[in-house]
Amino acid sequence: MFNLSHPKLVTLAASEGYADVADFLEDHAQGSTVPAICMAPDCDHTADLEPDQRAGFCEVCGRPTMKSGLVIAGMI
Ligand SMILES: [Zn+2]
Repeated sequence: MFNLSHPKLVTLAASEGYADVADFLEDHAQGSTVPAICMAPDCDHTADLEPDQRAGFCEVCGRPTMKSGLVIAGMI
């Protein structure tokens, strides 16, 4: 079951110019790097990281809270 309504996923897709999360995931499903977002409540930093990244270092808030969009959606 994919989770396309997670608020961070919606924010990430919007920051990449997608109004529809499903379109965002479809375009990045096969990428060698994919957009990731910081999961901290007070931080929405985004970066391109490995598709299976779930504990990447956030350059803004300094926490290991970067997750790829595919991970947030439950695709990986
Ligand atoms: Zn952060």
